[in-house]
Amino acid sequence: MSEKNTFEITILPGDGIGVEITPPTLDLITAAVQKVGGVEVTFKSFDAGAKYYQDTGIALPEEALNHAQESDAILLACMGMPSIRYPDGREIAPQLELREKLDLFAGVRPVKTMPGLPLPLEDPRGKALDFILIRESTEGLFASREKFTIESEGENEFATDTQVISRRGCERLFNFAFNMAHQRKSQGYKGRVTCVDKANVLGSFYYMRQIFDQVAEEHTDIEADHVYVDAAALQLVRQPWAFDVMVTENMFGDILSDLGAGLMGGMGMAPSADIGQKHAVFQPCHGSAPDIVGEGKANPTAMFLSAAMMLNWLGLQHQNQKLVEAAALIDKAVEAAYSDAQLLPFELGGSDGTEEITQQVFSRLQSL
Ligand code: ATP
Repeated sequence: MSEKNTFEITILPGDGIGVEITPPTLDLITAAVQKVGGVEVTFKSFDAGAKYYQDTGIALPEEALNHAQESDAILLACMGMPSIRYPDGREIAPQLELREKLDLFAGVRPVKTMPGLPLPLEDPRGKALDFILIRESTEGLFASREKFTIESEGENEFATDTQVISRRGCERLFNFAFNMAHQRKSQGYKGRVTCVDKANVLGSFYYMRQIFDQVAEEHTDIEADHVYVDAAALQLVRQPWAFDVMVTENMFGDILSDLGAGLMGGMGMAPSADIGQKHAVFQPCHGSAPDIVGEGKANPTAMFLSAAMMLNWLGLQHQNQKLVEAAALIDKAVEAAYSDAQLLPFELGGSDGTEEITQQVFSRLQSL
């Protein structure tokens, strides 16, 4: 069988600043891929999201979903607008539908700081963070997303959301986390997985913790420990450098990954991947940032780094070393742009926006 060297990516620019940060990201991918040579990456872009829903009554067109299912990977910028909602008040979030339909159970949220940025923690170790938060993305408390009901009436009326934690969901998630810790250990990281739960209060978390311990027994060369989510929030501020791979339930992960983005300097710095057995979506952690649309202030870094995660994932999936190299080039170019050019994005109080950050990253990529 000949080695696959042509890859097609589904592009979903989405809403708000998504349409501003997508074009430079595609140019960057193309430039990195051309630099390594011997591999081709093509793009097919689709309209979807809140604006598209407002215009057509559909949030994620079938054509886009079909293409996403057929293509090699999906790169999504951001979707949703607080002002555009479904009749029941929920925001338009086809990225959540994609997670469910493509069964993307592992939400990978790297917390890796860029050199030279003024970050919230004074301690020098807080300026060199490099750990991963993995968030279960198909069940947990968000499993109730479309099943919300109000029962009874009058003063007896109440609403319930149900948390779902399954054995299958836990086993595949924890195995993913331990495998990632193995991979990182071979690169010199600690080799530890920390399960974040609330097993002291909710039985479903106690159940999750027991499955974590069972899976940990199959990975004896990796350290395994637990922390309650409240203590995890404290530790993420006091000594986040102590973590290596953290793994947690869907909603806890949603909250803690924003904390992680804060440690990196802001939403515009935080990349992410949502990975399943077959498919994967890569997108910055941030939303559509309606408050800065059209001002040139959007930081494209999170999307650049998400694109690098995509190339790396594709490279590892298909044993294509060229793609792994292209991913590393993007990572290096972004890091060099921050350390040499001393970029300071708007969201960190500076005056570098989409254009300046893009230009600096491109110029570093050319000289690598
Ligand atoms: P969502 O709920 O869709 O995730 P959100 O309500 O968390 O969205 P964001 O859209 O992520 O909100 O924006 C939060 C804040 O961060 C806003 O002030 C926004 O301007 C800022 N922000 C988000 N992304 C970026 C970016 N790429 N560059 C600059 N600022 C950003």
